[in-house]
Amino acid sequence: MIRVEQVTLLGALGRVLAQPLHSPVDLPPFDNSAMDGYAVSTEVTQDVRGSRFRRIGVSAAGHPFSGNVGPGECVRIFTGAATPEGAQRVLLQEDCEDDGETVVVTGTPDPRSNIRARGNDLTAGSLLDPAGVRVDAFRVGRYAASGISHLAVYERPTVGVFSTGDELAPIGTPPEALPPGSIYESNRHALMALMAGLPVIVEDLGGLPDDPQAIRAALEDAAGRCDVIITSGGVSVGDHDHVKAVVESLGSLDFWRLNLKPGKPLAFGRLKQALFFGLPGNPVSTIITWLLIARPAVLAMCGAKVVPPLRLQARLASEVHHSRGRTEFQRGRYGATPQSGELMVEICGDQASNRLSSFDGANCLVEVPADADDLPVGSSVQILPLHAL
Ligand code: AMP
Ligand code: MG
Repeated sequence: MIRVEQVTLLGALGRVLAQPLHSPVDLPPFDNSAMDGYAVSTEVTQDVRGSRFRRIGVSAAGHPFSGNVGPGECVRIFTGAATPEGAQRVLLQEDCEDDGETVVVTGTPDPRSNIRARGNDLTAGSLLDPAGVRVDAFRVGRYAASGISHLAVYERPTVGVFSTGDELAPIGTPPEALPPGSIYESNRHALMALMAGLPVIVEDLGGLPDDPQAIRAALEDAAGRCDVIITSGGVSVGDHDHVKAVVESLGSLDFWRLNLKPGKPLAFGRLKQALFFGLPGNPVSTIITWLLIARPAVLAMCGAKVVPPLRLQARLASEVHHSRGRTEFQRGRYGATPQSGELMVEICGDQASNRLSSFDGANCLVEVPADADDLPVGSSVQILPLHAL
């Protein structure tokens, strides 16, 4: 069971609703004018061209007119102001001439009431959102319109992030001070950045050496404090890939290896009560397996209702190189053709899993089916927009 807490409306941004949320009020709460003009009692169907109305008062936003409007009368009214008793329509000021006492309809009013009826947006008691929904900015606006200042959300799970590898040097190390054979550590930073908008508490657990004892001690400690543990590297078949064996001995390994490119050596298991994701070390593989596998699982841990990623149909503007075997997710850039609006997608250069440059300019993943060979220009493919992942 995920625990629940009360937060302020703005504090709920990005969080997951723990209870269904209902509007306590009708929206709008009273009939009001959609335009600046004159509220009259004539029916919308009635032709009022040339009619004269006696001006009997003013209704402004926040300052309603308290009387009735009857035949031959009008009330000066502004957008958002309550319509007076008896009003059937609001004539636009552009269609009227007003000398302060009498209003003459000089234009041809459109056959609309220009009145926003009480409850036309929402009625009191109606469902704003079910539990499991993530609060976005549009929802913040909707909930505020219903007067909601606090709401119940799920507590954020703690996600611990490690990198592994003797070759990794901290960013900021001067290039001339890098030990021989070292590279800068990037996966942990990319992962923490990818988690930034999620309703989780990210714990930066640093880098681990390729040493089974050190990995064991660190994972055991993290398992006591984290709900999810994420590592990168050390899950492949090399002599220095110790992460998988440590997880097997310390907890359980539920699966290892997927028919996925990039990202084949992904490991999933449990350490005490924590979920464990051992993401592959190649930087592109780390990101792709996070987006497609670990992220949805973490969102589910947050109590969110998880839906499959958005997939769109597009036509290849550049060819895809692929050999049968694994489903591949290449980085691509899509856009609509100006003439037909059809989506076209081009592949962002060399797709080797060490090349973070393949994300440069990318706005989608191009899904290449496991049984596909090379795909020529013009082939129809499925794309997964990155903004929706
Ligand atoms: P591994 O799975 O540990 O063999 O790593 C595969 C490749 O990814 C190797 O070239 C590693 O140097 C590289 N790699 C692993 N972890 C990281 C990291 N955190 N940042 C950058 N590169 C990494
Ligand atoms: Mg390694």
